[in-house]
Amino acid sequence: MVATRLPDPPPRLWRNPEPKRHYDVVIVGSGGHGLATAYYLARNHGIRDVAVLERGWLAGGNMARNTTIIRSNYLFDESAALYDHALELWEQLPAELDHDFLLSQRGVLNLAHTEQEVRDSRRRVFANRLNGVDAEWVEPAEIAELCPIIDLSPDVRYPVLGATYQRRGGIAKHDHVAWALARKADEMGVDLVQGCEVTGFQLDGDRVTGVHTSRGPIGAGRVALAAAGRTTLLTDQLGLRLPLQSHPLQALVSELLEPVHPCVVMSNHVHVYCSQAHKGELVLGAGIDSYNGYGQRGSVHVIERQMAAALELFPIFARAHVIRTWAGTVDVTPDASPIIGPTPYQDLYVNCGWGTGGFKATPAVGWVYAHTIATGRPHPLAEPYGLERFTTGALIDEHGAAAVAH
Ligand SMILES: Cc1cc2nc3c(=O)[nH]c(=O)nc-3n(C[C@H](O)[C@H](O)[C@H](O)COP(=O)(O)OP(=O)(O)OC[C@H]3O[C@@H](n4cnc5c(N)ncnc54)[C@H](O)[C@@H]3O)c2cc1C
Repeated sequence: MVATRLPDPPPRLWRNPEPKRHYDVVIVGSGGHGLATAYYLARNHGIRDVAVLERGWLAGGNMARNTTIIRSNYLFDESAALYDHALELWEQLPAELDHDFLLSQRGVLNLAHTEQEVRDSRRRVFANRLNGVDAEWVEPAEIAELCPIIDLSPDVRYPVLGATYQRRGGIAKHDHVAWALARKADEMGVDLVQGCEVTGFQLDGDRVTGVHTSRGPIGAGRVALAAAGRTTLLTDQLGLRLPLQSHPLQALVSELLEPVHPCVVMSNHVHVYCSQAHKGELVLGAGIDSYNGYGQRGSVHVIERQMAAALELFPIFARAHVIRTWAGTVDVTPDASPIIGPTPYQDLYVNCGWGTGGFKATPAVGWVYAHTIATGRPHPLAEPYGLERFTTGALIDEHGAAAVAH
């Protein structure tokens, strides 16, 4: 039988509006952070005259490129509070957004390979527990039960001496998270405008009154940046120098495999982390490429090191093939913690510096950034993350203390 007409296309998840000439709030960047902020501005604060302006396509930046690890077992009180708030919101969001984005709380192991790492990791477990974060120290015998494919032989270059374990940690399907947030924000009246690059700012003295874009000027009561690795390209135009460096961060996936890898495994010493995506690919990543740049590509030798490290931990993967590598552009601060809050310019807010680890924070960023924009005052969870810390010296040196990325 010959079909007389094509099937109806699926209903669109969001509209594709022409930008208006003015909004109460303009958010720059439709990654997870920009979308979550728009969602919570509408949901928590009733602010719906909001546009999210995106130079490319919705969630095509780091939101599409990350390795989706979610956890909250950070060392310092400020970090634990923020990331654990995110984890609580992750647990509520599938029902609230009415979208199954495949949150899989399969547990995250952070391996320790040296005596110093054992001491540091155990300290982190104790600190986590004091902060109400679920954290355990596990010995090699328990690791063998949790993830039987790790090479636990004592005679390898870096034997596994134990691990921290967060049962509530895991992964979620990043593109679905973005679509779920976008759909709800759109339903509440937020304009999601793709193909609209912000090229500059409208100013009235030291007050930001709008933005210049590739689709004309747009006035705004408040402007909130959520532009990740391209933040400084924007703030430099105001002469506002932020303590940020943009770097490529790469990841790779293997061909599809049967389920073999039951949890997320991270190792800073051998330097790789690995999980198995819902579809079956192994997802691997490591640290940043060391040079600065805004290109979404990285160096081959960094990928080679990731694969060599993965094989040290998982010799079983020796015959797996890599099918795809890619990079995002991540914005890194001197203490590897984010910047969230007001700027010296009135009505201009900034959320940036999430470096290698901002996906897991997505709902909490939306929650605290929306509060900050709506009230003009930092949310209590965001207060330690203001720009002032780089002059007061109250850094949150999570990277230095725990040496844990992602
Ligand atoms: C390879 C890789 C692996 C990662 N793995 C993890 C992980 O496992 N767990 C984790 O927690 N985090 C991880 N991250 C980090 C995480 O992806 C980021 O911290 C997070 O996505 C940042 O969110 P965002 O919404 O700010 O960024 P983005 O998704 O990058 O959003 C910023 C948006 O702003 C847009 N934009 C920029 N400039 C302009 C402009 N002038 N006008 C309009 N739009 C503009 C961009 O196009 C982009 O869409 C990883 C990152 C990478 C690259």
